[in-house]
Amino acid sequence: MNTQETVYAIASGKGGVGKTTTTVNLGTALAGAGNRVVIVDVDLGMANLAGFVSLSPEDTTLHQVLAGEADVTEATYELADGIWAVPSGLGLDSYASVKTENLREVVAELRDQFDYVLLDVGAGVSHETVLPLGLADAVVLVSTPEPASVQDARKTCDLADRAGGSIAGVVLTRTHPSSDIDHEGIAEKLDLPLLATIPEDPTVRESVYAGTPLVVHDPKSPASRAYRYLAARLVGEADPEDRPTFEGSPASSTPSESQPPQSDADDGDAEQDGASAASEDDVSAAISEIDADSETDGGQPRIDIPDAESDS
Ligand code: ADP
Ligand code: MG
Repeated sequence: MNTQETVYAIASGKGGVGKTTTTVNLGTALAGAGNRVVIVDVDLGMANLAGFVSLSPEDTTLHQVLAGEADVTEATYELADGIWAVPSGLGLDSYASVKTENLREVVAELRDQFDYVLLDVGAGVSHETVLPLGLADAVVLVSTPEPASVQDARKTCDLADRAGGSIAGVVLTRTHPSSDIDHEGIAEKLDLPLLATIPEDPTVRESVYAGTPLVVHDPKSPASRAYRYLAARLVGEADPEDRPTFEGSPASSTPSESQPPQSDADDGDAEQDGASAASEDDVSAAISEIDADSETDGGQPRIDIPDAESDS
């Protein structure tokens, strides 16, 4: 993967598939590895990034910036060490005076100031969806494994092509570890690399209620681990072979599908069995390494990914 890429559009065809969750956690994982990151809510009509990270919607937002009423620095808020957010407004009044074209300048300015810029793009096929796809160095396509979501993802691929954007790959979200869906096959059909699979995980919802990114709220959870892998993979520090697959892991919050025996350690509804305890140790080790690296390593930040314990 090209580490020269620093502006990513997080996009999907269908809404509600996990774009904002991905933007927030990918950004936080990159920041945790020592990068300066800004996440931008370019879902101008249905902004909700602020809620994920406990920002007040009354503050100056991207809406005022795109309306020419404020500078982007006035709408950039520090969330935690290394991570900033540019929220969008919630009201329709400020939306009306927005000039989407101004986004070009905003992205150029943020590109100069940050190591990584993540654009949380709205779903669908409107102008404000297409523009960011062309402004980004690469598009991270987000989809669930559901056929309707994959089908809409295909449309977003077409749009990205037309907007002159290139697609880094697809992230499959809300995957069910116990299902027999062929995730690699979905990526192949889209003709894209499978960057990561993010398992369905109840801690995602808990983190939203807590207003804290999941990778901080519960760094040991399966989805956190998947998002740290995604961060490493995007910046070229993780091998595709190391991608955690979570097959046979007990992470699923809704084990509604049939559960064929996947591994010796996992027999059905065991929530805290040996497999999860073992991988937690690995994750803790990886987190300490990240902390140690960001303190001592003045050079290129690194993201370490635990061994995929539940692979096989
Ligand atoms: P989008 O930005 O694409 O509309 P969101 O990130 O807002 O999607 O996610 C939609 C809903 O799905 C949210 O309620 C979120 O908490 C939930 N969600 C996203 N990813 C997961 C996951 N891996 N496991 C469980 N719930 C998830
Ligand atoms: Mg969203």
